[in-house]
Amino acid sequence: MDIRLVNLTKVFNDKNSEVRAVDNLNIDIPSGKLIGLLGPSGCGKSTTLYMLAGLHEPSSGQIFFGEEDVTNLPAEKRGIGLVFQNYALYPHLTVRKNILFPLENMKDLTKAEMNERTEKYARLVGIEELLDRKPKQLSGGQQQRVAIARALVKEPRVLLLDEPLSNLDARLRLQTREEIRRIQRETGITTVFVTHDQEEAMSISDEIVVMKFGVMQQIGVPQDVYDNPVNLFVAKFLGTPPINVFDGYIHDKGIYIGEDRIGDTELEDQEVIIGIRPEGFEVCEEGTLSVHVAQVEHIGRDMSIIGENPFSEKPSFRFIIPSETVVEENTEIKTRVKPNKCFVFNKATEERLQ
Ligand code: ADP
Ligand code: MG
Repeated sequence: MDIRLVNLTKVFNDKNSEVRAVDNLNIDIPSGKLIGLLGPSGCGKSTTLYMLAGLHEPSSGQIFFGEEDVTNLPAEKRGIGLVFQNYALYPHLTVRKNILFPLENMKDLTKAEMNERTEKYARLVGIEELLDRKPKQLSGGQQQRVAIARALVKEPRVLLLDEPLSNLDARLRLQTREEIRRIQRETGITTVFVTHDQEEAMSISDEIVVMKFGVMQQIGVPQDVYDNPVNLFVAKFLGTPPINVFDGYIHDKGIYIGEDRIGDTELEDQEVIIGIRPEGFEVCEEGTLSVHVAQVEHIGRDMSIIGENPFSEKPSFRFIIPSETVVEENTEIKTRVKPNKCFVFNKATEERLQ
């Protein structure tokens, strides 16, 4: 089931103020894909999801599931499965009863069919041995799987997940996100996955949608967005360690940080903001960017360098090089900046220029 959001807008009116939580969103979600809705807290991710679910009424705009306009369709008629951050399981019911619960008002299923469905989805999420336990006898990851089985048991057209991994510890988060990806692939259900965690979104999404203040900034395949951010906000939001940001300028077809010409350009002379990914530095004598090596950290396969440069957004910045590279602390080195890892932004609008 493909999903289409057309000029979707939600304005909350508090006593004195007006919050445009979602502002004119236009997104096409192809059938069977997993879309990661990504952005900092308060950017309108949950509001978007709740409009898809039918829990919030849009202020304007439309939502289509396939050809069907579902904008005014009540939540229970949309055929969606919803999973929240806090599982929201019934504590006094067994896992089996929790999963089965949404089926109880489905008149056309017999008791045996309900049990069959429950067991099918328990198996799919890998908790078939736990059906007779109560939620409090499960780990966080297992509880979240129960919640996913419960969301899937009615065989919805669309699966909506709102920060489903936030309450899990780091190891379980990793494991559960792989599980969600597997379940999504196996069922082929069109899925919208909300998170503020860029790594989580990048690792499991077919496409990501990056939002800021209710406005979509960019949509695309995760690696494409990483490699071609449209503005400084997107460039800074994706990637760990984050992109390094410098004040710079264009002069005579050269990109400059301070007195160092770090690359070529066709842009006109102007002041700019320069972003360089941490993997965009190569230590070599012919390099043109001077760096004072403040600290060297060996982190297994790679080496993380904290360099200093007065023109950096922060006085120190961080880059990653292969661990074989010979670099000493408290020395001056030269680095070459890889052109495809270096972005130039308009100083005023922060839109990407190169
Ligand atoms: P996210 O899920 O990305 O953290 P939300 O969609 O929850 O963001 O919120 C987006 C904006 O809308 C925030 O500024 C939030 O305070 C506001 N907001 C959300 N729900 C309501 C509400 N029911 N009433 C008023 N403002 C709200
Ligand atoms: Mg939210």
